[in-house]
Amino acid sequence: MKLILLGAPGAGKGTQAAVISERYHIPQISTGNIIREALKSGTEMGLKAKSYMDEGKLVPDDVVIGIIKDRLAQPDCESGFILDGFPRTIPQAEALDSMGVVIDKVIDIEVPDDVIVNRMSGRRVCEKCGRPYHIVNLKPKVEGICDDCTGALIQRKDDQIDTVKARLDIYHRETEPLKGYYEKQNKLYVVEGQNSVEETIALTMKALEA
Ligand code: AMP
Repeated sequence: MKLILLGAPGAGKGTQAAVISERYHIPQISTGNIIREALKSGTEMGLKAKSYMDEGKLVPDDVVIGIIKDRLAQPDCESGFILDGFPRTIPQAEALDSMGVVIDKVIDIEVPDDVIVNRMSGRRVCEKCGRPYHIVNLKPKVEGICDDCTGALIQRKDDQIDTVKARLDIYHRETEPLKGYYEKQNKLYVVEGQNSVEETIALTMKALEA
């Protein structure tokens, strides 16, 4: 099964993709994670992407299309995959089509902007081990300190409120038109994602089995 997960940043695509990946035994391909890994290991592509990422902007199409081309050529993608965070623009979707990749379904996770702003701007991560927290919904036992490793809790640069708003603007402008693109191909399934993770998973599974 070849799938795409669409949705605004913070809509919970990563969580849904991980569950789908496990249930259907297909790899989860997240361009955001691939870029973050490249950044950590200091590759040229990672360094090129850093300034875009920090400002909440999209990395240029040719860079991410190159990443996806390489990744989809790996043998574990032969029987299917779930794309999480790609495509994010019409040219990226067109590139996928022109690679001859036939997508079965596109799941669009819909979450209102105000819920996303609340989720993302309240998010904190441990600077040592990366464990995620939320200042209202998922507090640590001691404010500002990781329960697991006592590392300091910090806010990711791209989770700061102005950056979140900039990312949402870009999403509405550049990525949302993909809904129409895939609706025309009769592949779009819309899932409400503002409730609990479990409820969203149930709706996603229903869409996949439809
Ligand atoms: P994510 O973790 O999916 O929210 O991605 C984090 C950041 O990586 C985004 O804000 C972009 O800067 C970059 N990125 C990830 N996927 C793409 C993509 N398909 N097109 C352009 N930029 C991307």
